[in-house]
Amino acid sequence: MDARLEAIRDTVLARNPGEAEFHQAITEVFESLGPVHDRHPEFLEAAILERLCEPERQIIFRVPWTDDAGRVQINRGFRVEFNSALGPYKGGLRFHPSVYLGIVKFLGFEQIFKNALTGMPIGGGKGGSDFDPRGRSDAEVMRFCQSFMTELYRHIGEYTDVPAGDIGVGGREIGYLFGQYKRITNRYESGVLTGKGISWGGSLVRPEATGFGTVIFTQEMLKTRATSFDGQRVVVSGSGNVAINAIAKAQALGATVVACSDSSGYVVDEAGIDIVLLREVKEVERGRLKDYAERRGGASYVEGGSVWDVNATVALPCATQNELDGDAAARLVRNGLLALGEGANMPSTRDAVAVFQEAGVLFGPGKAANAGGVATSALEMQQNASRDSWSFEHTEERLTEIMVGIHHRCASTADEYGDPGNYVLGANIGGFVKVADAMLAQGLI
Ligand code: GLU
Repeated sequence: MDARLEAIRDTVLARNPGEAEFHQAITEVFESLGPVHDRHPEFLEAAILERLCEPERQIIFRVPWTDDAGRVQINRGFRVEFNSALGPYKGGLRFHPSVYLGIVKFLGFEQIFKNALTGMPIGGGKGGSDFDPRGRSDAEVMRFCQSFMTELYRHIGEYTDVPAGDIGVGGREIGYLFGQYKRITNRYESGVLTGKGISWGGSLVRPEATGFGTVIFTQEMLKTRATSFDGQRVVVSGSGNVAINAIAKAQALGATVVACSDSSGYVVDEAGIDIVLLREVKEVERGRLKDYAERRGGASYVEGGSVWDVNATVALPCATQNELDGDAAARLVRNGLLALGEGANMPSTRDAVAVFQEAGVLFGPGKAANAGGVATSALEMQQNASRDSWSFEHTEERLTEIMVGIHHRCASTADEYGDPGNYVLGANIGGFVKVADAMLAQGLI
């Protein structure tokens, strides 16, 4: 790392102790930014990096609610409003027991660059709670969401901060959150949240967008080696919204997805995952992958273990941060991996990224590859602002244009900085320069 940047990085780490994932995300971005500061000493002079690493505002709050047995439960809520140089803060809410400030800050930091890369007018933010929705009834989830919004509502707004979903937050949760926002404010402010239901201000393609976009980005990478998804053997991790839609899109493009996973293990299905059955089990029944394997002839379920043991030519990690380490990366490379697109945020450890880059694997980092979700959220905001709703075909066309545009921006930035094919460098520099220019223009704020 450039010595000037390393000194700034060390200060940021020291003043944010115990936030391992935030430290990791910062280090990974800083490693790419040396050459930009050689060309743009004005960024150093204006302390752009120091400012970028300090969120504009951080909100931490108590979320009290009662469970179905009438017992009082207390969770912690977060919203980190990281950077508004390019537009209102934008980013999802994650409900998962692992959520703490370090996770919300890593996600919010990544979101700044991801959102910049989409070319849409959105700043970066993230939020969530350590609430665990698993095993909770709809009524419990509703009471939790209502309590969460009873504090959050005063901090958000169409022109201020626009939350959406992430792990543990889907259409059901956005519905309860929107209902409570409307009730408290007495405003039908559609643009305050994205990921809404189709009949009440949502956008077609938003549910599919992150998974579809990851595959579209990866397809663009494959094209640079004169190949495509057609005939590839694909392994996907996760079996939530992002994973399911990545599987659907990869198979629509002619690939065979032979494995996917959940937190208890993974399923191997050599004939290719049956997407209709997978959706039934996961989306309708909110069941486990084990149920899928039991109902699908020829599929087997491996309890525990790593889905990265399954050999593949394309890998799409779509579960969570740091799910793929250096050893798993080395196994994938030995087994003939050609390309990897990150559907999740920071699923590959820094060791894993180094292994992939060393081996010449086409590596699409999350802030570029999974930007289709938030980009389609921005399309939802556009539709809300004009009180319009677009067809599936039109919206998917816009998503495709955006993903192809992000690929182009990353690839051309990597070329410009003398490291062709390095999408990590391209994404980090491409996103950073856009935000840094806007910050300079807007003065010291
Ligand atoms: N949580 C998603 C992400 O990581 C989407 C955020 C949004 O739609 O605002 O980008």
